[in-house]
Amino acid sequence: MSHSILQKFNCVFFDLDGVLRIGKQLVPGANEILKYLKINNIPYLICTNECRYSNKELRNELISIGLTECNSCPIYTAGNSICDYFEKLNYNDMLDEKHKDYYIGVVGENGLKDTLNQYSKTRDNIHLINQSLSGLNKFNEDIKTAKHKYLVIGTLTKFRIEEIEKCYQWITAGAKVLLTCPDSAEPSSRGDFDIILPKHIIHILKYNLNFEYESIGKPHIIVEENMNSYYQNKIKEKNKVLFIGDTLITDMELANKAGWSKCLVLSGNTNKEMAKSYLHKIDYIVKNVKELLPNE
Ligand SMILES: [Mg+2]
Repeated sequence: MSHSILQKFNCVFFDLDGVLRIGKQLVPGANEILKYLKINNIPYLICTNECRYSNKELRNELISIGLTECNSCPIYTAGNSICDYFEKLNYNDMLDEKHKDYYIGVVGENGLKDTLNQYSKTRDNIHLINQSLSGLNKFNEDIKTAKHKYLVIGTLTKFRIEEIEKCYQWITAGAKVLLTCPDSAEPSSRGDFDIILPKHIIHILKYNLNFEYESIGKPHIIVEENMNSYYQNKIKEKNKVLFIGDTLITDMELANKAGWSKCLVLSGNTNKEMAKSYLHKIDYIVKNVKELLPNE
């Protein structure tokens, strides 16, 4: 059996969509590469800008389509990165010896709401607001005037007008807007839009509203910081971490900022011509993850 370049690395981080799966189909070699890493004692994890599902739902979904080797590896979603964003705000408040209450409205699917809800239960100053702002009673009226308001916009499986109305209410009440991810395409769409990404919602809102927003999933530094908390002893030599992704502005950019080695797969969002336009060096460009496995 010939060697695989994977042997050079102390750990491997995978993007999910376009790398290990496209829609409900596994990419060739997806489960085999995870198995190979497990046999060779190279730790791995999945880091995705997907936010529509809770971690548990996503893992079950992946196992059901045949990615059984994701059973024991960490999965980090854009929903997790939003929680880590608030955790960092909390931590900074603690350092400044300040107590602040944060009020959060969420536009997204149930998985994102569940993820944020679980997190908010662990912090008494993080308040997830489920009802619409216009529906608040007198008792809750102070939420409208609260100083630290955030609107989290995630990916929608289906366009729903009430979600757009919710955005208007929160933004006009002065909420800071956080997107779960900056992606504008996902690989199963092939040019059409099967799902509504946060950027699409921003596009609609910007017709009538002027506001700033921040994207929190890859390549935000919060993701790098939290990736570093996994496998701490394995990532001291940054170039011995390999990030395998299909998107330049998220995956390759995150790896670039973090100093990790980069592998671009052409099975998802990016083709060879687009890869040439990328300003930084990409260490490996392969057709799909199968090419990273040793030849039998
Ligand atoms: Mg991808």
